[in-house]
Amino acid sequence: MSLFASWYAAVLQAVSNLVGDAQTWLFVSVVQPTLYRLDMMSLSDLAYDATFWFIAGALQIAVVYAVLRPLETWRPLESWQDRKSVRVDVIYTLISRLGLVGLVFFFTLQPAFDALQAWLQLHGLFNLNLEQLVPGAFAHPVLGFLIYFVVLDFAGYWYHRWQHQFQWWWELHAVHHAQRQLSLWADDRNHLLDLMLLQSYFAALALIIGIEPGQFVLLTLLSGALQSLQHANTRISFGRLGERLLVSPRFHRLHHAIGYGHELNHHNRARIYGCNFGILLPWWDILFGSADFDTPLQPTGVRAEVEGEDYGRGFWAQQWLGLVRMGRQLRRGLPPVFGRA
Ligand SMILES: [Zn+2]
Ligand SMILES: [Zn+2]
Repeated sequence: MSLFASWYAAVLQAVSNLVGDAQTWLFVSVVQPTLYRLDMMSLSDLAYDATFWFIAGALQIAVVYAVLRPLETWRPLESWQDRKSVRVDVIYTLISRLGLVGLVFFFTLQPAFDALQAWLQLHGLFNLNLEQLVPGAFAHPVLGFLIYFVVLDFAGYWYHRWQHQFQWWWELHAVHHAQRQLSLWADDRNHLLDLMLLQSYFAALALIIGIEPGQFVLLTLLSGALQSLQHANTRISFGRLGERLLVSPRFHRLHHAIGYGHELNHHNRARIYGCNFGILLPWWDILFGSADFDTPLQPTGVRAEVEGEDYGRGFWAQQWLGLVRMGRQLRRGLPPVFGRA
């Protein structure tokens, strides 16, 4: 094994030991007694897994905050009168990253995916397992990780394009874009329905390509940390080469630009629905003609909101108004007998 591979394995081991110890402690001292008192010990296995995601998420938030908050204070990109709207994003981050969204998915949609997986296996369908397809590559943990990284990111790029392409879908994704004060907390500001769609999309993909659980944990945590960085309110540059290798804060911020990054643009056919849709890699934008590295940064937000439409201040208002807008768009596609908004 090369030096890098053994270093990678050692770091992975240290982190998983730390999380594992904390998981055991929290489970034994808090979760298990609570389940026992509520007579819900049948959920013990699930609760043990959920405790893991809770600890890993808390650790991730702590690291991200410790690194990015000083940068935001030291070299802010925008200065704000107040940070009220950022506070809602903190709630979004806690809900997403401490595992609550994952739990909701587990109870609502996971059973359907499990049944589908069993059915596919029974009929010998969809055995396109990446590890079987390129067996040699996965013997090396770093290479295996990189392959998953690229494949999942490619899938993520197209999911994001569709969020902008379909008007009803955009109304959900607009919850993310309506934040005008982008900060390290802004990444998780999403519509819950959109999050369920996203989870289903990746669950379906996992059925087809198979994802090794250990790799999946690492991918999730790394991807979340990088996306927090992309939204941070700070002047940092990846350099000309760096921003072509990995999505930089500048690159993603331009995607949030009002009237530029994410709206219909008839002047430039190559950028039909805006620019810079990449999640972690800008390569797909470069490949499919949606990359923009040159336009200067502009204010971020949604044009309709800037012009006065209410997108909600609090969590529930933002969620509810997203559904209302989506319903309005869906009714537009129906015959007139259903009434048009
Ligand atoms: Zn977007
Ligand atoms: Zn964003």
